[in-house]
Amino acid sequence: MNDPKHFELSRRGFCLCCLGSAAYVASGGWLTPAQAFAEARNIVDLIRYDAAKAPIKLHRLRGNVSALEGSGGNIGLLTGDDGKVFIDAGIAASRPRILDASKQLSGDPIKYLINTHWHFDHASGNDWLHSVGAKIIAHENTRKHLSEIQRVEDWDYNFLPSPAGAIPSEVISANRTLKLNGASIELKPYKPAHTDGDLSVTFGEADILHAGDTYWNGIYPFIDYSTGGSIDGMIAASDANLAAATNNTIIIPGHGKPVSNKSELKDFRDMLVDIRDKVAALKKTGRTQQETVAAKPTAAHDAKWGQFVIDPAFFTKLVYEGV
Ligand SMILES: [Zn+2]
Repeated sequence: MNDPKHFELSRRGFCLCCLGSAAYVASGGWLTPAQAFAEARNIVDLIRYDAAKAPIKLHRLRGNVSALEGSGGNIGLLTGDDGKVFIDAGIAASRPRILDASKQLSGDPIKYLINTHWHFDHASGNDWLHSVGAKIIAHENTRKHLSEIQRVEDWDYNFLPSPAGAIPSEVISANRTLKLNGASIELKPYKPAHTDGDLSVTFGEADILHAGDTYWNGIYPFIDYSTGGSIDGMIAASDANLAAATNNTIIIPGHGKPVSNKSELKDFRDMLVDIRDKVAALKKTGRTQQETVAAKPTAAHDAKWGQFVIDPAFFTKLVYEGV
Protein backbone atom coordinates (compact mmCIF):
# COMPACT_ATOMS: atom_id res chain seq x y z
CA MET A 1 0.00 0.00 0.00
CA ASN A 2 3.05 2.26 -0.02
CA ASP A 3 3.15 2.24 -3.78
CA PRO A 4 2.71 5.86 -4.92
CA LYS A 5 0.34 4.86 -7.71
CA HIS A 6 -1.87 3.09 -5.22
CA PHE A 7 -1.80 6.11 -2.96
CA GLU A 8 -2.77 8.33 -5.85
CA LEU A 9 -5.73 6.15 -6.75
CA SER A 10 -6.87 6.01 -3.12
CA ARG A 11 -6.54 9.72 -2.65
CA ARG A 12 -8.92 10.27 -5.53
CA GLY A 13 -11.50 8.34 -3.61
CA PHE A 14 -12.88 6.33 -6.49
CA CYS A 15 -14.17 2.82 -6.16
CA LEU A 16 -11.21 1.52 -8.15
CA CYS A 17 -8.81 2.44 -5.38
CA CYS A 18 -7.72 -1.13 -4.76
CA LEU A 19 -7.67 -2.12 -8.40
CA GLY A 20 -3.89 -1.76 -8.43
CA SER A 21 -3.38 -4.28 -5.65
CA ALA A 22 -5.88 -6.70 -7.16
CA ALA A 23 -4.16 -6.43 -10.52
CA TYR A 24 -0.85 -6.96 -8.77
CA VAL A 25 -2.03 -10.26 -7.37
CA ALA A 26 -3.47 -11.33 -10.69
CA SER A 27 -0.51 -10.42 -12.85
CA GLY A 28 2.54 -10.74 -10.60
CA GLY A 29 3.49 -7.10 -11.10
CA TRP A 30 2.10 -3.60 -10.92
CA LEU A 31 -0.02 -2.49 -13.86
CA THR A 32 -1.03 0.97 -14.94
CA PRO A 33 -4.77 1.50 -14.55
CA ALA A 34 -5.32 1.13 -18.30
CA GLN A 35 -3.37 -2.13 -18.37
CA ALA A 36 -5.45 -3.30 -15.48
CA PHE A 37 -8.57 -2.39 -17.45
CA ALA A 38 -7.33 -4.37 -20.40
CA GLU A 39 -6.07 -7.36 -18.46
CA ALA A 40 -8.47 -7.74 -15.56
CA ARG A 41 -11.44 -9.27 -17.33
CA ASN A 42 -13.52 -9.02 -14.24
CA ILE A 43 -12.76 -5.39 -13.41
CA VAL A 44 -16.39 -4.82 -12.47
CA ASP A 45 -16.14 -7.62 -9.91
CA LEU A 46 -12.94 -6.09 -8.56
CA ILE A 47 -14.72 -2.77 -8.04
CA ARG A 48 -17.56 -4.52 -6.26
CA TYR A 49 -15.09 -6.42 -4.09
CA ASP A 50 -13.26 -3.25 -3.20
CA ALA A 51 -16.48 -1.46 -2.18
CA ALA A 52 -17.10 -4.20 0.37
CA LYS A 53 -14.25 -2.71 2.45
CA ALA A 54 -13.98 0.96 1.40
CA PRO A 55 -14.83 3.53 4.09
CA ILE A 56 -17.60 6.06 3.39
CA LYS A 57 -16.72 9.70 3.94
CA LEU A 58 -19.48 12.15 4.82
CA HIS A 59 -19.36 15.75 3.50
CA ARG A 60 -21.94 18.18 4.90
CA LEU A 61 -22.53 20.70 2.11
CA ARG A 62 -25.24 23.32 2.65
CA GLY A 63 -28.73 23.35 4.15
CA ASN A 64 -29.81 19.74 4.61
CA VAL A 65 -27.77 18.41 1.67
CA SER A 66 -24.69 16.21 2.08
CA ALA A 67 -22.46 14.03 -0.09
CA LEU A 68 -21.20 10.51 0.59
CA GLU A 69 -17.88 9.50 -0.94
CA GLY A 70 -16.40 6.02 -1.27
CA SER A 71 -18.98 3.73 -2.89
CA GLY A 72 -18.50 4.10 -6.62
CA GLY A 73 -20.03 7.40 -7.77
CA ASN A 74 -20.48 10.29 -5.33
CA ILE A 75 -23.86 10.07 -3.58
CA GLY A 76 -25.99 13.15 -2.78
CA LEU A 77 -28.27 13.00 0.26
CA LEU A 78 -31.12 15.31 1.36
CA THR A 79 -32.58 14.81 4.86
CA GLY A 80 -35.83 15.98 6.48
CA ASP A 81 -39.34 15.05 7.66
CA ASP A 82 -40.41 13.79 4.23
CA GLY A 83 -37.67 11.15 4.44
CA LYS A 84 -34.17 10.86 3.07
CA VAL A 85 -33.67 11.46 -0.64
CA PHE A 86 -30.63 9.71 -2.15
CA ILE A 87 -29.04 10.83 -5.40
CA ASP A 88 -27.47 7.58 -6.62
CA ALA A 89 -27.12 4.38 -4.66
CA GLY A 90 -23.46 3.48 -4.97
CA ILE A 91 -22.36 -0.14 -4.85
CA ALA A 92 -24.49 -2.69 -3.01
CA ALA A 93 -21.65 -3.97 -0.80
CA SER A 94 -21.35 -0.53 0.86
CA ARG A 95 -24.82 -0.82 2.42
CA PRO A 96 -23.80 -0.98 6.12
CA ARG A 97 -21.31 1.88 5.81
CA ILE A 98 -23.74 4.05 3.80
CA LEU A 99 -26.41 3.45 6.46
CA ASP A 100 -23.96 4.36 9.24
CA ALA A 101 -23.01 7.61 7.49
CA SER A 102 -26.61 8.56 6.73
CA LYS A 103 -27.66 7.88 10.35
CA GLN A 104 -25.05 10.41 11.49
CA LEU A 105 -27.14 13.02 9.67
CA SER A 106 -30.62 12.10 10.91
CA GLY A 107 -32.94 9.26 11.80
CA ASP A 108 -35.31 10.04 8.93
CA PRO A 109 -36.46 6.96 7.00
CA ILE A 110 -35.18 6.47 3.44
CA LYS A 111 -37.99 7.40 1.04
CA TYR A 112 -36.57 8.33 -2.37
CA LEU A 113 -33.70 7.42 -4.68
CA ILE A 114 -32.92 9.30 -7.88
CA ASN A 115 -30.46 7.61 -10.28
CA THR A 116 -28.30 9.94 -12.38
CA HIS A 117 -27.78 7.04 -14.87
CA TRP A 118 -27.73 3.24 -15.02
CA HIS A 119 -24.05 2.35 -14.35
CA PHE A 120 -23.47 -0.23 -11.62
CA ASP A 121 -21.28 2.08 -9.53
CA HIS A 122 -24.31 4.39 -9.18
CA ALA A 123 -27.20 1.92 -9.22
CA SER A 124 -26.13 -1.45 -7.85
CA GLY A 125 -27.40 -0.30 -4.43
CA ASN A 126 -30.90 0.25 -5.87
CA ASP A 127 -32.23 -3.08 -4.65
CA TRP A 128 -31.40 -2.62 -0.97
CA LEU A 129 -32.50 1.04 -0.93
CA HIS A 130 -35.83 -0.03 -2.42
CA SER A 131 -36.10 -2.83 0.15
CA VAL A 132 -35.90 -0.31 3.02
CA GLY A 133 -38.52 1.97 1.49
CA ALA A 134 -37.08 4.07 -1.34
CA LYS A 135 -39.14 4.89 -4.39
CA ILE A 136 -36.75 4.97 -7.35
CA ILE A 137 -36.93 7.73 -9.98
CA ALA A 138 -34.74 7.86 -13.12
CA HIS A 139 -34.55 8.72 -16.81
CA GLU A 140 -36.64 6.37 -18.94
CA ASN A 141 -33.48 5.05 -20.68
CA THR A 142 -31.98 4.22 -17.27
CA ARG A 143 -34.96 2.00 -16.52
CA LYS A 144 -34.51 0.39 -19.92
CA HIS A 145 -30.81 -0.34 -19.37
CA LEU A 146 -31.38 -1.68 -15.85
CA SER A 147 -34.12 -3.98 -17.17
CA GLU A 148 -32.13 -5.61 -19.97
CA ILE A 149 -28.85 -7.42 -20.50
CA GLN A 150 -26.39 -4.62 -21.15
CA ARG A 151 -22.92 -5.03 -22.62
CA VAL A 152 -20.32 -2.29 -22.04
CA GLU A 153 -17.71 -2.91 -24.71
CA ASP A 154 -14.99 -0.74 -23.16
CA TRP A 155 -15.26 -2.66 -19.86
CA ASP A 156 -15.61 -5.98 -21.69
CA TYR A 157 -18.52 -6.78 -19.40
CA ASN A 158 -22.11 -8.01 -19.74
CA PHE A 159 -24.49 -6.76 -17.05
CA LEU A 160 -27.49 -8.92 -16.25
CA PRO A 161 -30.96 -7.40 -15.83
CA SER A 162 -31.40 -5.93 -12.33
CA PRO A 163 -33.80 -7.55 -9.82
CA ALA A 164 -37.37 -6.22 -9.88
CA GLY A 165 -36.89 -4.07 -6.77
CA ALA A 166 -33.96 -2.25 -8.36
CA ILE A 167 -35.94 -1.06 -11.39
CA PRO A 168 -37.10 2.60 -11.18
CA SER A 169 -40.87 2.79 -10.66
CA GLU A 170 -41.12 6.33 -11.97
CA VAL A 171 -39.34 7.65 -15.05
CA ILE A 172 -38.92 11.10 -16.53
CA SER A 173 -38.21 12.27 -20.06
CA ALA A 174 -38.55 16.03 -19.38
CA ASN A 175 -37.75 18.41 -16.53
CA ARG A 176 -39.52 17.58 -13.29
CA THR A 177 -39.62 19.43 -9.96
CA LEU A 178 -40.17 17.72 -6.59
CA LYS A 179 -40.86 19.56 -3.33
CA LEU A 180 -39.46 17.53 -0.45
CA ASN A 181 -38.02 18.47 2.95
CA GLY A 182 -38.50 22.15 2.16
CA ALA A 183 -36.27 21.86 -0.91
CA SER A 184 -37.10 22.45 -4.56
CA ILE A 185 -35.47 19.50 -6.31
CA GLU A 186 -35.20 19.81 -10.07
CA LEU A 187 -34.51 16.75 -12.22
CA LYS A 188 -33.24 17.63 -15.69
CA PRO A 189 -32.49 15.02 -18.37
CA TYR A 190 -29.40 15.72 -20.46
CA LYS A 191 -29.21 14.97 -24.14
CA PRO A 192 -27.04 11.82 -24.59
CA ALA A 193 -23.67 12.60 -22.92
CA HIS A 194 -22.00 10.02 -20.63
CA THR A 195 -24.89 7.64 -21.49
CA ASP A 196 -28.30 8.26 -23.08
CA GLY A 197 -30.00 8.30 -19.68
CA ASP A 198 -28.15 10.97 -17.70
CA LEU A 199 -29.97 13.46 -15.53
CA SER A 200 -28.87 16.25 -13.21
CA VAL A 201 -30.39 17.03 -9.83
CA THR A 202 -30.48 20.60 -8.51
CA PHE A 203 -31.34 21.64 -4.94
CA GLY A 204 -32.63 25.17 -5.54
CA GLU A 205 -32.48 26.81 -2.09
CA ALA A 206 -29.13 25.24 -1.14
CA ASP A 207 -27.77 26.02 -4.64
CA ILE A 208 -26.27 22.58 -5.18
CA LEU A 209 -26.00 20.72 -8.50
CA HIS A 210 -25.36 16.96 -8.73
CA ALA A 211 -24.10 16.47 -12.28
CA GLY A 212 -23.73 12.68 -12.24
CA ASP A 213 -21.08 11.33 -14.58
CA THR A 214 -21.32 14.26 -17.00
CA TYR A 215 -18.65 15.75 -14.71
CA TRP A 216 -15.48 14.08 -13.36
CA ASN A 217 -13.62 16.46 -11.09
CA GLY A 218 -9.89 16.54 -11.88
CA ILE A 219 -9.80 13.23 -13.80
CA TYR A 220 -10.44 12.09 -17.37
CA PRO A 221 -14.01 10.78 -17.65
CA PHE A 222 -15.32 7.48 -18.90
CA ILE A 223 -17.72 7.83 -21.84
CA ASP A 224 -20.10 4.92 -22.45
CA TYR A 225 -20.60 4.58 -26.20
CA SER A 226 -22.39 1.25 -25.60
CA THR A 227 -25.42 3.11 -24.24
CA GLY A 228 -25.40 6.32 -26.24
CA GLY A 229 -22.58 8.43 -24.78
CA SER A 230 -20.19 10.55 -26.85
CA ILE A 231 -17.48 13.19 -26.43
CA ASP A 232 -19.64 15.83 -28.11
CA GLY A 233 -22.49 14.94 -25.77
CA MET A 234 -20.13 15.32 -22.79
CA ILE A 235 -19.12 18.80 -24.00
CA ALA A 236 -22.76 19.82 -24.51
CA ALA A 237 -23.61 18.55 -21.01
CA SER A 238 -20.68 20.51 -19.58
CA ASP A 239 -22.02 23.66 -21.24
CA ALA A 240 -25.45 22.95 -19.76
CA ASN A 241 -23.88 22.46 -16.31
CA LEU A 242 -21.96 25.73 -16.62
CA ALA A 243 -25.13 27.56 -17.64
CA ALA A 244 -26.94 26.14 -14.61
CA ALA A 245 -24.24 27.15 -12.10
CA THR A 246 -23.18 30.43 -10.52
CA ASN A 247 -19.94 31.15 -8.66
CA ASN A 248 -21.80 30.23 -5.47
CA THR A 249 -23.08 26.84 -6.66
CA ILE A 250 -21.68 23.70 -5.03
CA ILE A 251 -21.27 21.07 -7.74
CA ILE A 252 -21.16 17.36 -6.90
CA PRO A 253 -19.35 15.46 -9.69
CA GLY A 254 -19.99 11.79 -10.43
CA HIS A 255 -16.35 11.03 -9.64
CA GLY A 256 -13.40 12.88 -8.18
CA LYS A 257 -13.33 15.19 -5.16
CA PRO A 258 -17.04 15.42 -4.28
CA VAL A 259 -17.25 19.14 -3.45
CA SER A 260 -16.59 21.19 -6.57
CA ASN A 261 -17.43 24.53 -8.15
CA LYS A 262 -17.99 26.36 -11.43
CA SER A 263 -14.33 27.25 -11.92
CA GLU A 264 -13.22 23.59 -11.71
CA LEU A 265 -16.12 22.59 -13.94
CA LYS A 266 -14.99 25.12 -16.54
CA ASP A 267 -11.48 23.62 -16.48
CA PHE A 268 -13.04 20.22 -17.16
CA ARG A 269 -15.09 21.56 -20.08
CA ASP A 270 -12.08 23.37 -21.60
CA MET A 271 -9.97 20.20 -21.31
CA LEU A 272 -12.64 18.18 -23.14
CA VAL A 273 -12.88 20.75 -25.95
CA ASP A 274 -9.13 20.99 -26.44
CA ILE A 275 -8.58 17.22 -26.57
CA ARG A 276 -11.60 16.71 -28.80
CA ASP A 277 -10.21 19.23 -31.30
CA LYS A 278 -6.73 17.69 -31.26
CA VAL A 279 -7.99 14.11 -31.68
CA ALA A 280 -10.42 15.16 -34.43
CA ALA A 281 -7.58 16.87 -36.34
CA LEU A 282 -5.44 13.72 -36.13
CA LYS A 283 -8.29 11.45 -37.19
CA LYS A 284 -9.04 13.76 -40.12
CA THR A 285 -5.51 13.25 -41.48
CA GLY A 286 -6.23 9.52 -41.61
CA ARG A 287 -4.46 8.39 -38.47
CA THR A 288 -5.66 5.13 -36.97
CA GLN A 289 -6.71 4.94 -33.35
CA GLN A 290 -3.30 3.49 -32.40
CA GLU A 291 -1.44 6.21 -34.32
CA THR A 292 -3.60 8.85 -32.67
CA VAL A 293 -2.81 7.49 -29.21
CA ALA A 294 0.90 7.44 -30.14
CA ALA A 295 0.72 11.14 -31.12
CA LYS A 296 -0.23 11.94 -27.48
CA PRO A 297 -2.91 14.56 -28.15
CA THR A 298 -3.67 14.77 -24.42
CA ALA A 299 -0.06 15.49 -23.38
CA ALA A 300 -0.67 19.08 -22.19
CA HIS A 301 -3.38 17.85 -19.81
CA ASP A 302 -2.02 14.54 -18.55
CA ALA A 303 -0.25 15.79 -15.42
CA LYS A 304 -3.49 17.26 -14.12
CA TRP A 305 -6.17 14.90 -15.50
CA GLY A 306 -4.46 11.65 -16.41
CA GLN A 307 -3.43 10.32 -13.03
CA PHE A 308 -6.38 8.05 -12.51
CA VAL A 309 -8.19 5.04 -13.92
CA ILE A 310 -9.02 6.59 -17.27
CA ASP A 311 -5.44 7.19 -18.34
CA PRO A 312 -4.29 9.26 -21.36
CA ALA A 313 -4.30 6.37 -23.85
CA PHE A 314 -7.71 5.09 -22.78
CA PHE A 315 -9.22 8.57 -22.85
CA THR A 316 -7.75 9.25 -26.31
CA LYS A 317 -9.43 6.07 -27.57
CA LEU A 318 -12.75 7.16 -26.10
CA VAL A 319 -12.53 10.55 -27.79
CA TYR A 320 -11.35 9.04 -31.11
CA GLU A 321 -14.43 6.80 -31.13
CA GLY A 322 -16.69 9.86 -31.19
CA VAL A 323 -15.09 12.35 -33.62
ZN1 LIG B 1 -21.09 6.25 -15.19
